[in-house]
Amino acid sequence: MLHAGRVTLVARPNPEDEMVGQQDNIGHTSRVDKPVRTIVTGGAGFIGSHLAERLLSDGHEVIVLDNLSAGRLANLNHLASNPRLRIEQLDLASGEDMSDVFQGVDWVFHLAGLADIVPSITDPMKYHRANVDGTVAVLEASRAAEVSRFVYAASSSCYGIPDEYPTPETAEIQPMYPYALTKYLGEQCVLHWAKVYGMACVSLRLFNVYGPRTRTSGTYGAVFGVFLAQKLAAKPFTVVGDGTQTRDFVFVTDVANAFVSAAASDVTGEALNVSSGGTYSINQLTSLLGGSVEYVPKRPGEPDCTFADIGKIRRLLDWEPQVSFEEGVGIMIENIEHWREAPVWNKESISGATEDWFRYLDRPLAQGPAVSND
Ligand code: UDP
Repeated sequence: MLHAGRVTLVARPNPEDEMVGQQDNIGHTSRVDKPVRTIVTGGAGFIGSHLAERLLSDGHEVIVLDNLSAGRLANLNHLASNPRLRIEQLDLASGEDMSDVFQGVDWVFHLAGLADIVPSITDPMKYHRANVDGTVAVLEASRAAEVSRFVYAASSSCYGIPDEYPTPETAEIQPMYPYALTKYLGEQCVLHWAKVYGMACVSLRLFNVYGPRTRTSGTYGAVFGVFLAQKLAAKPFTVVGDGTQTRDFVFVTDVANAFVSAAASDVTGEALNVSSGGTYSINQLTSLLGGSVEYVPKRPGEPDCTFADIGKIRRLLDWEPQVSFEEGVGIMIENIEHWREAPVWNKESISGATEDWFRYLDRPLAQGPAVSND
């Protein structure tokens, strides 16, 4: 099927990617007894591709909507032969009529969006368009199609530097940069659609998600991709600060399971933390990965700890993380070849890539503009 400005794509199987696909669906069993038609926006991305895989393995039909700006068809290669998968390349915020794609869809999972901190600081309009306008467009298409469930991928970055640990959903919202702000605004839209239009919506606040297929290209980003590329190149791990900071790392198949559990439930109008419910230091990570380290300066606006209270999701969705940190890191090492072509960051290149991060965020809030207008 070909439309003006929209292309239906078919991923081609790539034997090298089989290895990555096989690591999925650890310990998860489906609670769904009836196959449904689903949309996964951002389905060619890291988390979206795992969710698509999980939904297909549960017997559902999956329509991936992705503009392929960050997502890659290669992430879906191992699913390409599945006749229940359809991939459409389109830009959600373009204003294009999407009613034909949403026709007859039961569950919508909205994961498409722009990630990364530094580019969001330099181009906030672009982030607003993708993460807020894009979300409203998907909500409106879903409302018109009368979908039965809508699940949004929100970000734990809304908590900024939290005052409370473990951090509950009721903690103060304090986004520290435009990425965090726009993801939070997207969440507010989702919950607003639940309130005003009675749409059945759930927002999942994802903590540090990791797993096979984390992004290997583009801007300086999530720690696993950085460290695995360094390990392959026999270069030191660039540890931020003294490495004692901790993160609530959650494995991607557990996250896919949370999305499915949210869709299969009758919970609506709620934001739920999704994380491992534990917290692990960067020093623990480097010792599990094995290799030398070098230290890079601590970045402003970064929490020393992320650690979620997951009581609410346990209670409402009966969801439980299954993959331990040690097991998850082991799976990453087994799949390390995936990062062979990824950029190898070092102290100097990180310093250049994070210049704007320091320029805009490393100052008291009351201090005024970071750049003079002369
Ligand atoms: N980190 C690190 N070296 C790097 C990149 C990240 O030590 O080259 C640390 C970073 O300080 C943070 C953790 O890894 O404590 C997770 O960073 P990431 O950017 O993946 O996620 P976020 O900071 O948004 O939680």
